[in-house]
Amino acid sequence: MRYVSTRGQAAPRDFEAVLLAGLAEDGGLFVPESWPELSPAEWRAMRGLPYPEIAARILALFGAGGMPLEAMCRDAYAGFGHPAVVPLVQLDHRSFALELFHGPTLAFKDMALQLLGRMFDHVLDKRGERVTIVGATSGDTGSAAIEACRDRSAVDIVILHPEGRTSEVQRRQMTTVLAPNVANVAVQGDFDACQDLVKAMFNDVPFRTEMRLSAVNSINWARIAAQIPYYAAAALALGAPDREVAFSVPTGNFGNVLAAWAARRMGLPISHLIVGSNRNDILARFLASNDMSARPVEPSLSPSMDIQVSSNFERLLFELMDRDADATAGAMTRFRTEGRMPVPDAAWRDATALFQGFTLDDDGTLAEIRRLWQGQQYLADPHTAVGTAAARALAPADPGIPVVVAATAHPAKFPDAVERATGVRPPLPSRLADLYDRKERFGVLPNDLAAVEAAVRAHARRNAA
Ligand SMILES: *Cc1c(COP(=O)(O)O)cnc(C)c1O
Repeated sequence: MRYVSTRGQAAPRDFEAVLLAGLAEDGGLFVPESWPELSPAEWRAMRGLPYPEIAARILALFGAGGMPLEAMCRDAYAGFGHPAVVPLVQLDHRSFALELFHGPTLAFKDMALQLLGRMFDHVLDKRGERVTIVGATSGDTGSAAIEACRDRSAVDIVILHPEGRTSEVQRRQMTTVLAPNVANVAVQGDFDACQDLVKAMFNDVPFRTEMRLSAVNSINWARIAAQIPYYAAAALALGAPDREVAFSVPTGNFGNVLAAWAARRMGLPISHLIVGSNRNDILARFLASNDMSARPVEPSLSPSMDIQVSSNFERLLFELMDRDADATAGAMTRFRTEGRMPVPDAAWRDATALFQGFTLDDDGTLAEIRRLWQGQQYLADPHTAVGTAAARALAPADPGIPVVVAATAHPAKFPDAVERATGVRPPLPSRLADLYDRKERFGVLPNDLAAVEAAVRAHARRNAA
């Protein structure tokens, strides 16, 4: 399996090279040269397997088979707080929560990153190399990446977060990891500023080469690949490939829902993909009226979705444009310079045949959390609540199609919002109970590339020495 860039100017690579590279050197994102597809019989054969085995089989199809995948997947998910790893909880007669938050940092990012940390270790060990991972986080990616990389010998990690814009639990989950290879930087700006700084570091080729930069944020293809298996597991559990299934995904960077799209591309009968947004609703506006125009990011109760530039959308755009890399690069450049992405009408129509967008503001989110608690005794975090509200609003007309909501964070990760809505303060699981007593360590820097690069260099040098 080889990977090509969505912008067409990078040499094709294999899975391991794409894992280490993150972003392609032409600024594009790596995608499989062709999509693996399974027959209904092949899908049926996976029904009922333990989750790590489903994950290993699917990752092998994407060219990761050179690694000891079965052992890695078992190990990655062994510490999760539920024996099913990704339990499906029934919410009403036709809707289900697919709980993706039983990992070490209580959000779905652990699903991919627990595996990626092990993959990095394996590949770097084999090559006798080390890398510096830099990433931007609006909250959850950072802690999940840090948990995945802490104390790994071949990896230094520097995570940028927007100062004051993550929840206290999210910040503490990052800044209380005092492992010497971990550095946290609070940037005086919003998440898009952090993401731009990371992109700028990657585009600074001498710096990128000197530091051996690598990324684990959701532009890394391996993360998307590692998110496909739970859509397959849920669909199979509900009767696929012999029954259609719809998914509702609370969305920020478009990585999670892109993995659902990939599961469909691989042959699963996924009838609808419902994209839930908070007030930062660029995706919903695009799907409603082909208006992909960025507005300033506004903070909301679901901070991991406070995003206006959904990086992974580029992968879908590439497919919608029939894999025309020049057209994709052109649209992305215009989005950068003009703040509005010109998507051809035919491509937009194709997108709307499968995807539907839904927007929920903070009041609606609180009302939805309250409704789920009062009606179903289900405590949902604000991100998940956007997904359940979207699922209810846009459920397929055919009542035989179940709707699965990606439950992306544990309610205890956002205790203030949950308590405001329900009066119940969800307790942290016991392994995190002392989080508020742990010592924190982080630096604060202006939104300035030179300052951030200097910090990364100092951190990497210290550890390499
Ligand atoms: C990251 C995150 C999202 C958004 O996922 P994307 O892949 O960026 O679309 C939603 N909910 C939670 C809790 C998250 O951490």
